[in-house]
Amino acid sequence: MKDCIFCQIIAGDIPAAKVYEDDQVLAFLDITQVTPGHTLVVPKVHARNLIEMSPEASSSLFASVPRVARKIMNATDAIGMNIVNNNEEIAGQTVFHTHVHLLPRFGEDDEFGMQFTAHEPDFPAMNELAARIAATDE
Ligand code: AMP
Ligand code: ZN
Repeated sequence: MKDCIFCQIIAGDIPAAKVYEDDQVLAFLDITQVTPGHTLVVPKVHARNLIEMSPEASSSLFASVPRVARKIMNATDAIGMNIVNNNEEIAGQTVFHTHVHLLPRFGEDDEFGMQFTAHEPDFPAMNELAARIAATDE
């Protein structure tokens, strides 16, 4: 897609620090480097985000994620990794070409900050919600 910055990187029209490439995906360092080695894995065929992708396209994207993750872990001596994918603006998506963030972790005081708020479980409400999701079309 002409106006898409990641399509332009894939086409070689703008530079990127590439770490992995195959027929289906390209992986390159995120320009913001939240932690050293912060990498984006993107499909070569444009898709707005993961939610819009077919089983085949998403499978080929995720097939490469563990491989790229191992390369980053080995190259950086990270001790863990967060793997994150944002869908739509409310979820923090700013580039509308599917990408998976690989964020190597080095310690509790590294720069990565993502907190989940845990709630006391309400099992009847959870069962009702699960049943509703299960009965709803894709
Ligand atoms: P998200 O907020 O999940 O949509 O992530 C988009 C990411 O793309 C951000 O972390 C940006 O730093 C990154 N980004 C934007 N432009 C470039 C670029 N030209 N090269 C590498 N990373 C980029
Ligand atoms: Zn694109």
